[in-house]
Amino acid sequence: MLIAQELLDDVVAHARQEYDAECCGLLGYGPHAGATRALRVHRATNVFASRKRFEIDGRELLRVIDEFESDGLELGAIYHSHTHTAPYPSQTDINFAANWPGLEWVIVGLADEQPDVRCYVIEGGSVQEVPLEVG
Ligand SMILES: [Zn+2]
Repeated sequence: MLIAQELLDDVVAHARQEYDAECCGLLGYGPHAGATRALRVHRATNVFASRKRFEIDGRELLRVIDEFESDGLELGAIYHSHTHTAPYPSQTDINFAANWPGLEWVIVGLADEQPDVRCYVIEGGSVQEVPLEVG
């Protein structure tokens, strides 16, 4: 994933604001300066309001995908936070990802003072970390 610092800051700020629950949201990707990059952050509602899991309401998801597409973007990544554990996909995350092939998965780890943001591709149940480039 390639993302501007201010958008990444927005994702981290969202995670910190919802410290009592996992935050979740959507990143719209589009072409910019010859590269595909994250250009839009949509803060979604975690229907579970839980520290342990997240789910985005299906209607919200479809509405945002429509918004992205009408602005020439596509859903590129889903982000969420891990408030007390390492920013690595849980088995629940891996199962969830099976429904969304081709997306990247961004996890904001808040267990340490300094947020640790990681990006993964999850295909066929296997997790691969991919670079998160800021710029
Ligand atoms: Zn998770």
